[in-house]
Amino acid sequence: MRLLIMGAPGAGKGTQASRIAARYDIPAISTGSIFRQNIAEGTPLGVKVKEIMDAGKLVSDEITDQIVADRLSQDDCASGWLLDGYPRNLHQVSALDEAGHQVDAVISLLVDEEDLIQRLLKRAEIEGRSDDNEDTIRTRMQVYTAETEPLLQTYAERGLLVEVDGEGEIDEVTERVVRELDAFLSGNRGELDA
Ligand code: ADP
Repeated sequence: MRLLIMGAPGAGKGTQASRIAARYDIPAISTGSIFRQNIAEGTPLGVKVKEIMDAGKLVSDEITDQIVADRLSQDDCASGWLLDGYPRNLHQVSALDEAGHQVDAVISLLVDEEDLIQRLLKRAEIEGRSDDNEDTIRTRMQVYTAETEPLLQTYAERGLLVEVDGEGEIDEVTERVVRELDAFLSGNRGELDA
């Protein structure tokens, strides 16, 4: 099972990704978390990406594609994975395609834009993520709208998009995702059998 989860900053991708991955017994891989971990540990990669992340801009494709390729080649990814935060632009879509990784479904978490900002500002208080301040949030939203949101259309055209309402309690959203994903996957299998 190879899945992508997409959504605007604050849509709850990370939270839902761990739960969905556990449900299907696959690793959840978050490029944002990988970068944050490297920053926390002060690795050369962390040093390289910190300023860009704090500004809310995208880390270069060269670095990001390599990180993902390395991670997906590890043993625990043999039976599948759920990618959270990648691909984020058209170049990254091509990189994933060219690496021969076929995706089974793309979960799109839908949340009202006003709610997103409120969630991010609240998270800033709780988690203290250095990119959860108003200026950076604005940039991240702009980057999302310009570069990442159009990918939903790309995956819709491939017949892979599963849109899920991301409003409400965390558990509720997880149940909704699993229900819609299962329906989508069994529908697709049905079509293949027919
Ligand atoms: P959010 O979706 O809330 O912005 P993420 O943890 O997914 O949070 O991403 C945080 C930051 O990490 C991004 O703003 C960007 O700087 C960097 N990042 C994560 N994934 C990618 C990616 N695929 N390509 C480039 N940069 C990325």
